[in-house]
Amino acid sequence: MLYSEPDIYLLWRRETHAIQIFSESAPGPLPERWLQQAWRHQRLDRSRLRTADGRRVRVLHPGFWNRGAGPDFRDAIVSMDGAPAIRGAIEVDLDIAGWRQHGHDRNPAFREVILRVVWSAPAAAAEPQSPPVLALEDALDTPLQTLGPWLEEEAPLLLPQLLTGRCSGPLAALPAKVVSRILEQAADVRLRRKSEEFAARAGVVGWNRALWEGVLAALGYRHNHWPMRRVAEVLDIDGSSRSWSALEWEVRLLGVGGFLEAGARRRESDRVRELWHLWWRIRDSFHGELLPTFAWHSGRNRPLNLPERRLIVAAQWLASRPLADILLNWIADGEPARSSDSRLWERLKPTPDGFWDHHWTLRTARNEKVGPLLGRPRFTDLAMNIFLPWLHAQATATGRPALCSVVRERYHRWPKGEDNAVLRLARQRLAGNGPTIGPKTAATQQALLQIARDFCGHSDALCRSCRFPAMVRRWAETPANATSEGDAGGTDRIESGCRPGQCPKHAVSHPCPEPSRSTT
Ligand code: SF4
Repeated sequence: MLYSEPDIYLLWRRETHAIQIFSESAPGPLPERWLQQAWRHQRLDRSRLRTADGRRVRVLHPGFWNRGAGPDFRDAIVSMDGAPAIRGAIEVDLDIAGWRQHGHDRNPAFREVILRVVWSAPAAAAEPQSPPVLALEDALDTPLQTLGPWLEEEAPLLLPQLLTGRCSGPLAALPAKVVSRILEQAADVRLRRKSEEFAARAGVVGWNRALWEGVLAALGYRHNHWPMRRVAEVLDIDGSSRSWSALEWEVRLLGVGGFLEAGARRRESDRVRELWHLWWRIRDSFHGELLPTFAWHSGRNRPLNLPERRLIVAAQWLASRPLADILLNWIADGEPARSSDSRLWERLKPTPDGFWDHHWTLRTARNEKVGPLLGRPRFTDLAMNIFLPWLHAQATATGRPALCSVVRERYHRWPKGEDNAVLRLARQRLAGNGPTIGPKTAATQQALLQIARDFCGHSDALCRSCRFPAMVRRWAETPANATSEGDAGGTDRIESGCRPGQCPKHAVSHPCPEPSRSTT
Protein backbone atom coordinates (compact mmCIF):
# COMPACT_ATOMS: atom_id res chain seq x y z
CA MET A 1 0.00 0.00 0.00
CA LEU A 2 2.69 2.39 1.00
CA TYR A 3 4.45 2.19 -2.38
CA SER A 4 1.34 2.30 -4.49
CA GLU A 5 0.79 5.95 -3.64
CA PRO A 6 2.19 8.40 -6.20
CA ASP A 7 5.55 9.63 -4.94
CA ILE A 8 5.04 13.36 -5.18
CA TYR A 9 8.53 14.15 -4.01
CA LEU A 10 10.06 11.93 -6.67
CA LEU A 11 7.93 13.66 -9.28
CA TRP A 12 9.15 17.00 -8.05
CA ARG A 13 12.74 15.82 -8.39
CA ARG A 14 12.06 14.57 -11.89
CA GLU A 15 10.93 18.04 -12.76
CA THR A 16 14.35 19.38 -11.90
CA HIS A 17 16.66 19.65 -14.88
CA ALA A 18 19.27 17.39 -13.26
CA ILE A 19 17.08 14.34 -13.75
CA GLN A 20 15.21 15.48 -16.80
CA ILE A 21 18.21 16.11 -18.97
CA PHE A 22 19.22 12.51 -19.22
CA SER A 23 15.93 10.80 -19.66
CA GLU A 24 16.72 8.58 -22.62
CA SER A 25 13.66 9.71 -24.55
CA ALA A 26 14.61 13.37 -24.56
CA PRO A 27 18.28 13.97 -23.88
CA GLY A 28 19.16 17.61 -23.31
CA PRO A 29 22.45 19.48 -23.31
CA LEU A 30 25.00 18.22 -20.81
CA PRO A 31 25.99 20.83 -18.21
CA GLU A 32 29.74 21.50 -18.24
CA ARG A 33 29.76 21.46 -14.44
CA TRP A 34 28.92 17.73 -14.56
CA LEU A 35 32.03 17.12 -16.59
CA GLN A 36 34.04 19.14 -14.09
CA GLN A 37 32.63 17.14 -11.18
CA ALA A 38 33.21 13.82 -12.95
CA TRP A 39 36.84 14.82 -13.48
CA ARG A 40 37.21 16.29 -9.99
CA HIS A 41 35.96 13.10 -8.32
CA GLN A 42 37.52 10.88 -11.01
CA ARG A 43 34.24 9.08 -11.62
CA LEU A 44 36.01 7.37 -14.48
CA ASP A 45 37.02 3.91 -15.46
CA ARG A 46 40.59 4.93 -14.87
CA SER A 47 42.17 1.77 -16.22
CA ARG A 48 41.19 2.44 -19.83
CA LEU A 49 41.57 6.15 -20.40
CA ARG A 50 42.92 7.06 -23.83
CA THR A 51 43.34 10.37 -25.58
CA ALA A 52 41.55 10.88 -28.88
CA ASP A 53 44.82 10.17 -30.71
CA GLY A 54 45.26 6.89 -28.87
CA ARG A 55 47.66 7.64 -26.00
CA ARG A 56 47.06 5.77 -22.74
CA VAL A 57 46.42 8.19 -19.85
CA ARG A 58 47.20 7.54 -16.22
CA VAL A 59 45.84 10.19 -13.83
CA LEU A 60 48.00 10.42 -10.73
CA HIS A 61 46.13 13.46 -9.47
CA PRO A 62 43.22 15.34 -11.09
CA GLY A 63 44.46 18.71 -9.79
CA PHE A 64 42.75 21.34 -7.69
CA TRP A 65 39.55 22.87 -8.91
CA ASN A 66 40.08 26.49 -9.92
CA ARG A 67 36.94 28.57 -9.71
CA GLY A 68 38.70 31.77 -10.78
CA ALA A 69 40.06 32.77 -14.18
CA GLY A 70 42.30 30.33 -16.06
CA PRO A 71 42.15 26.57 -16.60
CA ASP A 72 39.60 24.54 -14.61
CA PHE A 73 42.11 22.45 -12.64
CA ARG A 74 45.62 23.31 -11.56
CA ASP A 75 48.54 21.15 -10.48
CA ALA A 76 47.22 17.93 -11.97
CA ILE A 77 49.69 15.08 -12.49
CA VAL A 78 49.28 12.72 -15.44
CA SER A 79 51.41 10.34 -17.39
CA MET A 80 50.84 9.33 -21.01
CA ASP A 81 51.92 6.11 -22.67
CA GLY A 82 54.14 5.24 -19.72
CA ALA A 83 56.25 8.40 -20.05
CA PRO A 84 57.37 10.15 -16.85
CA ALA A 85 54.51 11.95 -15.10
CA ILE A 86 54.02 15.60 -15.93
CA ARG A 87 52.40 18.32 -13.88
CA GLY A 88 50.12 21.02 -15.28
CA ALA A 89 46.58 22.26 -15.72
CA ILE A 90 43.45 20.57 -17.08
CA GLU A 91 40.85 22.44 -19.10
CA VAL A 92 37.33 21.04 -19.28
CA ASP A 93 35.16 21.97 -22.24
CA LEU A 94 31.98 20.31 -23.38
CA ASP A 95 32.97 20.50 -26.97
CA ILE A 96 36.33 19.95 -28.60
CA ALA A 97 35.87 23.22 -30.50
CA GLY A 98 35.66 25.15 -27.20
CA TRP A 99 39.45 25.41 -27.04
CA ARG A 100 39.56 27.79 -29.98
CA GLN A 101 36.08 29.27 -29.58
CA HIS A 102 36.91 30.45 -26.06
CA GLY A 103 40.30 31.79 -27.16
CA HIS A 104 42.26 29.42 -24.90
CA ASP A 105 44.73 28.76 -27.71
CA ARG A 106 45.71 32.45 -27.61
CA ASN A 107 45.51 33.00 -23.85
CA PRO A 108 48.90 32.76 -22.05
CA ALA A 109 47.10 31.61 -18.88
CA PHE A 110 46.29 28.35 -20.70
CA ARG A 111 49.85 27.54 -21.74
CA GLU A 112 50.23 25.27 -18.72
CA VAL A 113 47.35 23.02 -19.88
CA ILE A 114 48.59 19.44 -20.35
CA LEU A 115 45.24 17.78 -21.10
CA ARG A 116 41.87 18.89 -22.43
CA VAL A 117 38.88 17.00 -21.11
CA VAL A 118 35.76 17.03 -23.30
CA TRP A 119 32.52 15.09 -23.51
CA SER A 120 33.06 13.55 -26.90
CA ALA A 121 35.73 13.73 -29.57
CA PRO A 122 36.16 11.90 -32.85
CA ALA A 123 38.84 9.22 -32.72
CA ALA A 124 42.26 10.49 -33.82
CA ALA A 125 41.11 14.04 -33.16
CA ALA A 126 44.25 16.01 -32.46
CA GLU A 127 45.15 19.54 -33.28
CA PRO A 128 48.77 20.41 -33.82
CA GLN A 129 50.14 22.67 -31.09
CA SER A 130 47.25 22.06 -28.74
CA PRO A 131 47.17 19.76 -25.72
CA PRO A 132 45.89 16.19 -26.13
CA VAL A 133 42.17 15.54 -25.76
CA LEU A 134 40.49 13.03 -23.46
CA ALA A 135 36.79 12.33 -24.07
CA LEU A 136 34.70 11.15 -21.12
CA GLU A 137 31.63 9.94 -23.00
CA ASP A 138 32.69 6.29 -22.85
CA ALA A 139 34.94 6.58 -19.82
CA LEU A 140 32.54 7.18 -16.90
CA ASP A 141 32.42 4.55 -14.16
CA THR A 142 28.60 4.65 -14.07
CA PRO A 143 26.06 5.40 -16.82
CA LEU A 144 25.31 9.10 -16.99
CA GLN A 145 21.58 8.65 -16.34
CA THR A 146 22.51 7.28 -12.91
CA LEU A 147 25.55 9.41 -12.28
CA GLY A 148 23.96 12.71 -13.38
CA PRO A 149 21.91 13.44 -10.23
CA TRP A 150 24.92 12.64 -8.05
CA LEU A 151 27.14 14.96 -10.09
CA GLU A 152 24.51 17.68 -9.81
CA GLU A 153 23.59 17.44 -6.17
CA GLU A 154 26.20 15.69 -4.09
CA ALA A 155 29.52 15.96 -5.88
CA PRO A 156 29.89 19.74 -5.39
CA LEU A 157 29.56 19.30 -1.63
CA LEU A 158 32.05 16.46 -1.22
CA LEU A 159 35.80 16.60 -1.04
CA PRO A 160 37.36 14.13 -3.47
CA GLN A 161 39.47 11.53 -1.72
CA LEU A 162 42.52 12.47 -3.77
CA LEU A 163 42.44 16.04 -2.47
CA THR A 164 42.94 14.95 1.09
CA GLY A 165 46.49 15.66 2.16
CA ARG A 166 48.64 12.93 3.70
CA CYS A 167 48.82 15.00 6.86
CA SER A 168 45.05 14.82 7.41
CA GLY A 169 45.27 11.36 9.02
CA PRO A 170 47.97 12.24 11.55
CA LEU A 171 46.24 15.55 12.31
CA ALA A 172 42.88 13.85 12.81
CA ALA A 173 44.54 11.47 15.28
CA LEU A 174 45.66 14.34 17.47
CA PRO A 175 43.52 15.79 20.25
CA ALA A 176 41.88 19.05 19.18
CA LYS A 177 43.89 20.95 21.78
CA VAL A 178 47.15 19.81 20.28
CA VAL A 179 46.04 20.73 16.75
CA SER A 180 45.17 24.17 18.12
CA ARG A 181 48.67 24.48 19.54
CA ILE A 182 50.27 23.58 16.22
CA LEU A 183 48.13 26.21 14.53
CA GLU A 184 48.94 28.74 17.23
CA GLN A 185 52.65 28.21 16.71
CA ALA A 186 52.33 28.41 12.93
CA ALA A 187 50.47 31.72 13.36
CA ASP A 188 53.25 32.95 15.65
CA VAL A 189 55.82 32.11 13.00
CA ARG A 190 53.87 34.20 10.51
CA LEU A 191 53.60 37.13 12.91
CA ARG A 192 57.30 36.97 13.64
CA ARG A 193 58.24 36.70 9.97
CA LYS A 194 56.19 39.75 9.02
CA SER A 195 57.46 41.62 12.03
CA GLU A 196 61.07 40.93 10.99
CA GLU A 197 60.31 42.19 7.48
CA PHE A 198 59.02 45.44 8.99
CA ALA A 199 62.05 45.79 11.24
CA ALA A 200 64.38 45.30 8.27
CA ARG A 201 62.49 47.83 6.13
CA ALA A 202 62.28 50.33 9.00
CA GLY A 203 66.06 50.10 9.30
CA VAL A 204 66.28 51.48 5.76
CA VAL A 205 63.38 53.95 5.46
CA GLY A 206 62.25 54.56 9.06
CA TRP A 207 59.27 53.25 11.00
CA ASN A 208 56.60 55.60 9.63
CA ARG A 209 57.47 55.11 6.01
CA ALA A 210 57.70 51.34 6.47
CA LEU A 211 54.20 51.40 7.99
CA TRP A 212 52.75 53.45 5.15
CA GLU A 213 54.42 51.34 2.47
CA GLY A 214 52.76 48.33 4.03
CA VAL A 215 49.37 50.01 4.39
CA LEU A 216 49.24 51.20 0.79
CA ALA A 217 50.47 47.88 -0.59
CA ALA A 218 47.78 46.06 1.42
CA LEU A 219 45.10 48.52 0.28
CA GLY A 220 46.18 47.75 -3.28
CA TYR A 221 45.60 44.01 -2.88
CA ARG A 222 47.76 41.68 -4.93
CA HIS A 223 47.20 43.30 -8.30
CA ASN A 224 47.66 46.96 -7.38
CA HIS A 225 50.47 46.57 -4.91
CA TRP A 226 53.04 48.31 -7.13
CA PRO A 227 50.98 51.25 -8.41
CA MET A 228 50.05 51.99 -4.79
CA ARG A 229 53.68 51.95 -3.74
CA ARG A 230 54.58 54.19 -6.66
CA VAL A 231 51.96 56.76 -5.62
CA ALA A 232 53.41 56.66 -2.08
CA GLU A 233 56.92 57.23 -3.46
CA VAL A 234 55.92 60.16 -5.67
CA LEU A 235 54.06 61.84 -2.82
CA ASP A 236 56.81 60.95 -0.37
CA ILE A 237 54.29 59.54 2.08
CA ASP A 238 55.76 58.77 5.44
CA GLY A 239 52.83 59.61 7.67
CA SER A 240 54.50 62.66 9.18
CA SER A 241 51.80 65.19 9.68
CA ARG A 242 51.22 67.55 6.79
CA SER A 243 48.39 69.97 7.20
CA TRP A 244 46.45 68.77 4.17
CA SER A 245 42.77 68.04 4.44
CA ALA A 246 41.28 64.72 3.30
CA LEU A 247 40.20 66.43 0.05
CA GLU A 248 43.71 67.79 -0.56
CA TRP A 249 45.15 64.31 -0.02
CA GLU A 250 42.44 62.86 -2.24
CA VAL A 251 43.31 65.16 -5.13
CA ARG A 252 47.01 64.31 -4.87
CA LEU A 253 46.51 60.57 -4.55
CA LEU A 254 43.99 60.37 -7.38
CA GLY A 255 45.94 62.88 -9.49
CA VAL A 256 49.30 61.07 -9.23
CA GLY A 257 47.44 57.79 -9.73
CA GLY A 258 46.27 59.15 -13.12
CA PHE A 259 42.59 59.04 -12.18
CA LEU A 260 42.02 62.76 -12.90
CA GLU A 261 43.39 62.71 -16.44
CA ALA A 262 41.14 63.52 -19.38
CA GLY A 263 39.84 60.02 -20.09
CA ALA A 264 38.99 59.53 -16.44
CA ARG A 265 37.06 62.81 -16.31
CA ARG A 266 34.48 61.91 -18.91
CA ARG A 267 31.68 62.01 -16.37
CA GLU A 268 31.64 65.55 -15.04
CA SER A 269 30.16 65.30 -11.56
CA ASP A 270 30.45 68.07 -8.97
CA ARG A 271 33.11 66.02 -7.21
CA VAL A 272 35.19 65.68 -10.38
CA ARG A 273 34.93 69.43 -11.01
CA GLU A 274 35.95 70.17 -7.42
CA LEU A 275 38.94 67.83 -7.67
CA TRP A 276 40.02 69.15 -11.05
CA HIS A 277 39.77 72.73 -9.78
CA LEU A 278 42.40 71.84 -7.15
CA TRP A 279 44.42 69.52 -9.35
CA TRP A 280 45.22 71.79 -12.30
CA ARG A 281 47.05 74.21 -9.98
CA ILE A 282 49.49 71.55 -8.72
CA ARG A 283 49.52 69.11 -11.61
CA ASP A 284 52.69 70.52 -13.22
CA SER A 285 54.69 69.89 -10.08
CA PHE A 286 54.21 66.16 -10.76
CA HIS A 287 55.28 66.39 -14.38
CA GLY A 288 56.42 63.00 -15.70
CA GLU A 289 55.36 61.23 -12.50
CA LEU A 290 51.68 60.50 -13.19
CA LEU A 291 50.72 56.86 -13.54
CA PRO A 292 48.91 55.80 -16.70
CA THR A 293 45.49 54.33 -15.88
CA PHE A 294 46.53 51.03 -17.46
CA ALA A 295 49.03 50.61 -14.60
CA TRP A 296 46.05 49.70 -12.42
CA HIS A 297 44.23 46.38 -12.45
CA SER A 298 40.51 46.71 -11.96
CA GLY A 299 39.25 43.62 -13.74
CA ARG A 300 39.25 41.10 -10.91
CA ASN A 301 38.36 43.50 -8.13
CA ARG A 302 34.85 43.77 -6.79
CA PRO A 303 33.52 47.29 -7.43
CA LEU A 304 33.79 48.11 -3.73
CA ASN A 305 37.49 47.27 -3.81
CA LEU A 306 38.51 49.36 -6.79
CA PRO A 307 41.80 51.22 -6.33
CA GLU A 308 40.32 54.74 -6.42
CA ARG A 309 38.21 53.90 -3.39
CA ARG A 310 41.23 52.48 -1.54
CA LEU A 311 43.12 55.71 -2.18
CA ILE A 312 40.29 57.60 -0.50
CA VAL A 313 40.72 55.47 2.63
CA ALA A 314 44.41 56.41 2.59
CA ALA A 315 43.47 60.09 2.11
CA GLN A 316 41.26 60.01 5.20
CA TRP A 317 43.92 58.34 7.35
CA LEU A 318 46.63 60.69 6.10
CA ALA A 319 44.52 63.71 6.96
CA SER A 320 43.78 62.56 10.50
CA ARG A 321 46.11 61.95 13.46
CA PRO A 322 49.29 60.11 12.44
CA LEU A 323 48.46 56.46 11.93
CA ALA A 324 51.51 55.32 13.92
CA ASP A 325 50.28 57.31 16.95
CA ILE A 326 46.81 55.80 16.70
CA LEU A 327 48.26 52.27 16.61
CA LEU A 328 50.70 52.87 19.46
CA ASN A 329 47.98 54.40 21.65
CA TRP A 330 45.63 51.54 20.91
CA ILE A 331 48.17 48.85 21.79
CA ALA A 332 49.12 50.62 25.01
CA ASP A 333 45.57 51.43 26.10
CA GLY A 334 45.62 48.86 28.91
CA GLU A 335 42.20 47.53 27.90
CA PRO A 336 41.49 43.81 27.68
CA ALA A 337 42.23 42.00 24.42
CA ARG A 338 38.54 41.18 24.11
CA SER A 339 36.93 43.63 21.67
CA SER A 340 40.27 45.28 20.96
CA ASP A 341 39.55 44.80 17.25
CA SER A 342 36.37 46.86 17.57
CA ARG A 343 38.18 49.60 19.46
CA LEU A 344 40.75 49.96 16.67
CA TRP A 345 38.02 49.80 14.03
CA GLU A 346 36.17 52.65 15.76
CA ARG A 347 39.31 54.77 15.55
CA LEU A 348 40.09 53.99 11.93
CA LYS A 349 36.84 53.27 10.14
CA PRO A 350 36.41 55.66 7.23
CA THR A 351 34.07 58.57 7.73
CA PRO A 352 30.97 58.67 5.52
CA ASP A 353 31.57 60.43 2.21
CA GLY A 354 28.64 61.76 0.19
CA PHE A 355 30.31 60.92 -3.13
CA TRP A 356 32.36 57.77 -2.53
CA ASP A 357 29.69 56.01 -0.51
CA HIS A 358 27.59 56.00 -3.68
CA HIS A 359 30.15 55.71 -6.52
CA TRP A 360 32.53 52.87 -7.43
CA THR A 361 34.79 55.25 -9.39
CA LEU A 362 34.83 58.88 -10.52
CA ARG A 363 33.26 57.79 -13.79
CA THR A 364 30.43 55.57 -12.65
CA ALA A 365 26.86 56.67 -12.08
CA ARG A 366 25.48 57.09 -8.58
CA ASN A 367 24.23 54.01 -6.72
CA GLU A 368 21.43 54.53 -4.28
CA LYS A 369 22.79 51.78 -2.07
CA VAL A 370 25.62 52.79 0.26
CA GLY A 371 28.92 51.00 -0.41
CA PRO A 372 31.35 51.48 2.49
CA LEU A 373 34.88 52.54 1.60
CA LEU A 374 36.39 49.81 3.75
CA GLY A 375 34.75 46.74 5.26
CA ARG A 376 35.69 44.80 8.37
CA PRO A 377 37.14 41.83 6.40
CA ARG A 378 39.67 44.08 4.64
CA PHE A 379 40.38 45.80 7.94
CA THR A 380 41.17 42.38 9.44
CA ASP A 381 43.65 41.74 6.62
CA LEU A 382 45.30 45.08 7.36
CA ALA A 383 45.46 44.31 11.08
CA MET A 384 46.93 40.80 10.65
CA ASN A 385 49.39 41.67 7.91
CA ILE A 386 50.37 45.25 8.67
CA PHE A 387 49.24 46.87 11.93
CA LEU A 388 50.01 44.06 14.38
CA PRO A 389 53.29 42.92 12.75
CA TRP A 390 54.44 46.55 12.63
CA LEU A 391 53.59 47.02 16.32
CA HIS A 392 55.31 43.75 17.14
CA ALA A 393 58.43 44.87 15.28
CA GLN A 394 58.43 48.19 17.15
CA ALA A 395 57.95 46.55 20.53
CA THR A 396 60.74 44.05 19.80
CA ALA A 397 63.13 46.71 18.49
CA THR A 398 62.59 48.94 21.50
CA GLY A 399 62.94 46.06 23.97
CA ARG A 400 59.40 46.14 25.38
CA PRO A 401 58.49 42.49 25.96
CA ALA A 402 55.26 43.33 27.81
CA LEU A 403 54.02 45.29 24.82
CA CYS A 404 55.10 42.50 22.54
CA SER A 405 52.96 40.19 24.60
CA VAL A 406 49.95 42.48 24.22
CA VAL A 407 50.44 42.50 20.45
CA ARG A 408 50.51 38.72 20.38
CA GLU A 409 47.45 38.44 22.57
CA ARG A 410 45.44 40.78 20.34
CA TYR A 411 46.72 38.96 17.25
CA HIS A 412 45.41 35.66 18.58
CA ARG A 413 42.11 37.19 19.69
CA TRP A 414 41.29 38.95 16.46
CA PRO A 415 38.06 37.49 14.97
CA LYS A 416 38.37 35.58 11.73
CA GLY A 417 38.32 37.43 8.44
CA GLU A 418 36.90 36.57 5.06
CA ASP A 419 37.39 33.08 3.70
CA ASN A 420 39.19 32.68 0.39
CA ALA A 421 40.15 29.95 -2.08
CA VAL A 422 43.65 29.43 -0.64
CA LEU A 423 42.26 29.02 2.87
CA ARG A 424 39.49 26.71 1.74
CA LEU A 425 41.92 24.47 -0.09
CA ALA A 426 44.39 24.39 2.81
CA ARG A 427 41.57 23.52 5.21
CA GLN A 428 40.27 20.78 2.96
CA ARG A 429 43.68 19.23 2.40
CA LEU A 430 44.63 19.30 6.06
CA ALA A 431 41.28 18.12 7.38
CA GLY A 432 40.02 15.95 4.52
CA ASN A 433 36.46 14.83 5.17
CA GLY A 434 37.26 14.56 8.90
CA PRO A 435 36.56 17.12 11.60
CA THR A 436 36.99 20.59 10.14
CA ILE A 437 39.99 22.66 11.04
CA GLY A 438 37.76 25.60 11.49
CA PRO A 439 39.28 29.04 11.45
CA LYS A 440 37.85 30.46 14.65
CA THR A 441 40.17 33.43 14.61
CA ALA A 442 42.14 35.40 12.07
CA ALA A 443 45.31 33.90 13.59
CA THR A 444 44.09 30.39 12.70
CA GLN A 445 43.62 31.59 9.14
CA GLN A 446 47.17 32.95 9.20
CA ALA A 447 48.38 29.59 10.50
CA LEU A 448 46.75 27.72 7.62
CA LEU A 449 48.32 30.11 5.12
CA GLN A 450 51.71 29.57 6.73
CA ILE A 451 51.43 25.78 6.61
CA ALA A 452 50.27 25.94 2.98
CA ARG A 453 53.26 28.12 2.19
CA ASP A 454 55.84 26.13 4.17
CA PHE A 455 54.73 22.62 3.23
CA CYS A 456 52.08 22.43 0.47
CA GLY A 457 54.00 25.08 -1.47
CA HIS A 458 57.10 22.87 -1.51
CA SER A 459 55.31 19.67 -2.42
CA ASP A 460 52.78 18.67 -5.07
CA ALA A 461 49.18 17.51 -5.24
CA LEU A 462 50.24 14.03 -4.11
CA CYS A 463 52.08 15.45 -1.07
CA ARG A 464 55.27 13.83 -2.34
CA SER A 465 58.29 14.41 -0.10
CA CYS A 466 56.27 16.53 2.33
CA ARG A 467 57.67 16.10 5.83
CA PHE A 468 54.70 17.61 7.64
CA PRO A 469 52.81 14.30 8.21
CA ALA A 470 55.89 12.70 9.79
CA MET A 471 56.46 15.75 11.96
CA VAL A 472 52.85 15.72 13.13
CA ARG A 473 53.14 12.00 13.91
CA ARG A 474 56.30 12.62 15.91
CA TRP A 475 54.58 15.38 17.83
CA ALA A 476 51.64 13.08 18.54
CA GLU A 477 54.00 10.50 20.00
CA THR A 478 55.39 12.83 22.67
CA PRO A 479 53.80 11.88 26.01
CA ALA A 480 52.34 15.34 26.66
CA ASN A 481 50.32 15.17 23.45
CA ALA A 482 49.24 11.58 23.61
CA THR A 483 46.08 12.23 25.60
CA SER A 484 43.17 14.44 24.81
CA GLU A 485 43.89 16.38 27.96
CA GLY A 486 47.41 17.27 26.62
CA ASP A 487 49.28 19.87 28.63
CA ALA A 488 48.03 23.20 27.37
CA GLY A 489 51.40 24.78 28.11
CA GLY A 490 53.15 21.91 26.34
CA THR A 491 56.45 22.08 24.62
CA ASP A 492 56.19 25.72 23.70
CA ARG A 493 56.13 26.96 27.25
CA ILE A 494 59.12 29.17 28.02
CA GLU A 495 60.88 27.94 31.12
CA SER A 496 62.64 30.30 33.45
CA GLY A 497 66.22 30.53 32.32
CA CYS A 498 65.33 30.48 28.62
CA ARG A 499 67.22 32.95 26.53
CA PRO A 500 65.03 35.68 25.10
CA GLY A 501 63.61 34.58 21.78
CA GLN A 502 64.75 30.97 22.12
CA CYS A 503 63.88 28.18 24.51
CA PRO A 504 66.99 25.95 24.67
CA LYS A 505 65.13 23.18 26.48
CA HIS A 506 62.52 22.79 23.80
CA ALA A 507 64.37 24.23 20.82
CA VAL A 508 61.41 26.47 20.10
CA SER A 509 61.74 30.05 18.95
CA HIS A 510 59.38 32.36 20.73
CA PRO A 511 57.91 35.44 19.17
CA CYS A 512 58.62 37.77 22.06
CA PRO A 513 61.82 38.47 23.96
CA GLU A 514 60.29 37.68 27.33
CA PRO A 515 60.69 35.07 30.03
CA SER A 516 57.02 34.13 30.32
CA ARG A 517 53.76 34.72 28.59
CA SER A 518 50.18 33.68 28.80
CA THR A 519 48.59 31.42 26.22
CA THR A 520 45.52 32.89 24.58
S1 SF4 B 1 51.66 18.89 1.02
FE1 SF4 B 1 52.07 18.34 3.17
S2 SF4 B 1 51.04 19.91 4.40
FE2 SF4 B 1 50.19 20.02 2.31
S3 SF4 B 1 48.38 18.72 2.39
FE3 SF4 B 1 50.08 17.44 1.69
S4 SF4 B 1 50.91 16.47 3.54
FE4 SF4 B 1 49.61 18.20 4.19
